Amino acid sequence: MTKVLFAAAEAAPFYKTGGLGDVSLALPQALRAAKTTIRVVIPYYEALFPEKYRDQVKDVLHFTVQVGDKAQYCGIKTLKLAGLTYYLIDNQDYFGREGLYGYWDDGERFAFFQMAICEMLERVDYIPDVLHLNDWHTAFIPVLLKEKYYWIKAYRHIKTVLTIHNMQFQGIYDPIILDSLFKIGWQTFNEEGIAFYGQVNFLKAGINFADAVNTVSPTYAQEIQTPQFGERLDGVLRANQGKLSGIMNGIDMKLYDPATDAALTATYTAKDLAPKALDKAALQTAVGLPEADVPVLGVVSRLTTQKGMDLLLDALDDFLKAQSAQVIILGTGDPALEHAFEIYQLAYPDQVAAQIKFDVKLAQQIYAGSDIFLMPSAFEPSGLSQMMAMRYGTLPLVHLVGGLKDTVVPYNEYTGAGTGFGFDDYTPAVLRKMMTMAVNLYTQDPTAWRQLQQQAMLPDFGWAKSAKKYQQVYQTIMS
Ligand code: ADP
Repeated sequence: MTKVLFAAAEAAPFYKTGGLGDVSLALPQALRAAKTTIRVVIPYYEALFPEKYRDQVKDVLHFTVQVGDKAQYCGIKTLKLAGLTYYLIDNQDYFGREGLYGYWDDGERFAFFQMAICEMLERVDYIPDVLHLNDWHTAFIPVLLKEKYYWIKAYRHIKTVLTIHNMQFQGIYDPIILDSLFKIGWQTFNEEGIAFYGQVNFLKAGINFADAVNTVSPTYAQEIQTPQFGERLDGVLRANQGKLSGIMNGIDMKLYDPATDAALTATYTAKDLAPKALDKAALQTAVGLPEADVPVLGVVSRLTTQKGMDLLLDALDDFLKAQSAQVIILGTGDPALEHAFEIYQLAYPDQVAAQIKFDVKLAQQIYAGSDIFLMPSAFEPSGLSQMMAMRYGTLPLVHLVGGLKDTVVPYNEYTGAGTGFGFDDYTPAVLRKMMTMAVNLYTQDPTAWRQLQQQAMLPDFGWAKSAKKYQQVYQTIMS
């Protein structure tokens, strides 16, 4: 029986800043349901840890981790949730902060985290066959196993899988950290190893040294091998093509279910979509828009250029002038983009609602209460929101890249096929044209619209299929 440890910097329901948090909850559970022995390790961000799980946290043991010349306290806590064992790595200095990331010493914080994971394995007596790593925060572990912990015999059989959720974040630091944090030599500091334009690159390290690498959709796995999407690692990825694959993320089909979702005013199914209108009215009221019978376009997103929010802003003015549609934006991110949406709300108070916050309940209400879900991402490793929208019979309008291309079937006006709308050319004019096309279809052809909604609600976006593919990856590297 394959024994797996899944390591990530965040996992819902404890902490989530985006897709990584969702995946770190759902994938281990799906693997467990598919009979993989799996546990999860994440940091213990004490200030952010939800009150409702606090009582269940137990201390296991503690030891010190040598971070350069500093001996740092490392507490291991544990809790069980839905049958899954979590290890929480505790160090107040590193993780007892207001937020998850974005600190000047993130390199040191996640250097500590990765060494703590390695040093924890034998102490908690859970030495996995496969260490499943996620993003740059854990991507340096294969190097540590090779260069720092090679002397631990019990670790020698451990294989590593690196899942890349976003190529944009790589963890790039001065090579001095090899000595000042890790206390390893310079043997791997070369182009075939961990060196990147004179710096150490954690993600590159993982790509070169993990036994298998995957991204979270098949199309993104192809795209990142090109300069346009590779974030300067396309050459490294091409060189590692043989161990690179793309496995589509899923969503929790039980949690995101319009038939049972407690966050909704009215529940509904593909067969009976009528109550969805009540959710739309409730949403309009909740965000302060008039309860009008006009198409509602929703956005739930980090407000960044990756998510195409600059493109949307460029398209919005002409669109709003020409159409009596409403646009509801929920998100946080780049302050300039946040501000720009707020300005739109002031300029178009009956058409635009800008909700600048992180609000999971309102997110569900937008997935359910909108007619169209906008996701014009410049690039999209997987994207979960478009699947959530489809699940709620809200048609996604997407830039056909990465996971968006893999999950949304663009509307074909001749055959009536489709589960949403898609565009290729990444310009504001094309986005506006597509938005106009979608709202026209909505207002002029309710029958075609209903058919598209039903088609969108049909696919099984659950995790079971993906879990099988991860199991195959585990099998391949172990044999
Ligand atoms: P990414 O991980 O790149 O941010 P994804 O589409 O993969 O994008 O996942 C985003 C997840 O975060 C979805 O579950 C989405 O509903 C949620 N989300 C994003 N912004 C907000 C917000 N402001 N409030 C609530 N949920 C949000």
